[in-house]
Amino acid sequence: MRDIQHFVNGQTLVGTSGRFGDVFNPNTGEVQARVALATAGELDAAVQVALQAHQGWSATNPQRRARVMFEFKRLVEANMQDLAELLSSEHGKVIADSKGDIQRGLEVIEFACGIPHALKGEYTEGAGPGIDVYSMRQSLGVVAGITPFNFPAMIPMWMFGVAIAVGNTFILKPSEKDPSVPVRLAELMMEAGGPAGVLNVVHGDKVSVDAILQHPDIKAVSFVGSSDIAHYVYSQGTLAGKRVQAMGGAKNHGIVMPDADMDQVVKDLSGAAFGSAGERCMALPVVVPVGKKTADELRERMIAEIETLKVGVSNDAEAQYGPVVSAAHRAKIAEYIQIGKDEGAELVVDGRDFKLQGYEKGFFIGPSLFDGVKPGMKTYHEEIFGPVLQMVRADSFEEALELPSKHQYGNGVAIFTRNGRVAREFAARVNVGMVGINVPIPVPVAYHTFGGWKRSAFGDTNQHGMEGLKFWTKVKTVTARWPEGEMADSSFIIPTMK
Ligand code: NAD
Repeated sequence: MRDIQHFVNGQTLVGTSGRFGDVFNPNTGEVQARVALATAGELDAAVQVALQAHQGWSATNPQRRARVMFEFKRLVEANMQDLAELLSSEHGKVIADSKGDIQRGLEVIEFACGIPHALKGEYTEGAGPGIDVYSMRQSLGVVAGITPFNFPAMIPMWMFGVAIAVGNTFILKPSEKDPSVPVRLAELMMEAGGPAGVLNVVHGDKVSVDAILQHPDIKAVSFVGSSDIAHYVYSQGTLAGKRVQAMGGAKNHGIVMPDADMDQVVKDLSGAAFGSAGERCMALPVVVPVGKKTADELRERMIAEIETLKVGVSNDAEAQYGPVVSAAHRAKIAEYIQIGKDEGAELVVDGRDFKLQGYEKGFFIGPSLFDGVKPGMKTYHEEIFGPVLQMVRADSFEEALELPSKHQYGNGVAIFTRNGRVAREFAARVNVGMVGINVPIPVPVAYHTFGGWKRSAFGDTNQHGMEGLKFWTKVKTVTARWPEGEMADSSFIIPTMK
């Protein structure tokens, strides 16, 4: 059995806890490796290394740090195929989608390549007589990222790309379900010229997460995962005096107006609801057709579209999506489908009996479609995170607008329409953080920022872009006076600008 170990101070650190997590091959259902789960002591050892490394790295000029990012990007691109295969083999998403996962992360690295420009401070010459004021952004020190299973390349790069470029040193605690790609990324960062100790990977579960939250030398924590854990990380981390941003779950709605281009909607919905087996926080698991005619047409066309979908092993180039990440997750999705049926929604297509020949033990589940889903239902309220599309019918624009606005989650939302005025009004009024207009998965580009509202995010800064830069730095403002001649007498009054 292959063991996946921590990566600390530029080398493998063999775990000593005696505790391991199983890493499955979701295509076959077999355990393919085990990952070491860290102790609080091992986490502390990584922090000490990162503290040491911070001295040199934070004093390295930003252009040199950017050069490491340029080289890292080149190396990741050169290793794209191997990384994508490794990612798919542990996660289960198809290879083309794994490449997308890596590519979206690399786009944040591209942003980080421009860090010398982004880090420039502000300067006011002559704010008073002989007085200049300037501000600078400085790194925080040792910082940490805790990431989910569903984007094992992109989300770590969202975090460490910006955090390291601004001069911090980083502890990454990736998901224990697909831990290999994060380790490869840290190895490539070393190869790219990142000094030992700048990017460390410590595997683990709640024990290492709690150790991160309690460690006095970790100054900031970025978390992405499910909402209950996000809330826990946010409250414990801030209680310990840390800066914390914690992104949580989602239940994104796609509003389909009667004038929408239905051919496009069907294709977009299919990809956004079932791609990556629905295991995306920006998936579209809820569709809201406006008006009976729109709903009836959409229902028939989605049934036909679902019949054309090919579910297959993750290295099948023809497959639209592969298995879900674990047997437990598959069982949870199947349970939600049963609950949906029991609470009165109409199960139009049932994907639960799907079996892939030759891979009967794999964690596959076919696409499912519900109609007649209502706001009071548990399966509407909660995140399923599987290939299940729920149709909630609305009679008017106002009713459709209210659904995502009142939902507990507020990550993403999309509207499909040909009417610019309606789209504009929707974007302005909807109570959700990221909006797509005829765009089903509106993940913002790297130089903008990513973040939801309500129970989809705790904290007040988003991931990457200038918000990321703000999160990973602290600002210092200097007021300098170079008076000519004699200094004035001391003053006991607060200085004001005359
Ligand atoms: P998860 O919450 O189970 O795990 C996320 C991280 O928390 C992992 O590193 C895990 O080891 C750790 N963790 C798990 N249980 C813990 C506990 N009890 N105490 C402390 N730490 C714990 O999430 P997941 O299943 O890996 O990922 C899927 C979830 O992530 C979905 O809810 C999805 O919507 C969400 N997600 C959100 C975004 C976003 O940006 N909003 C992006 C991707 C995924």
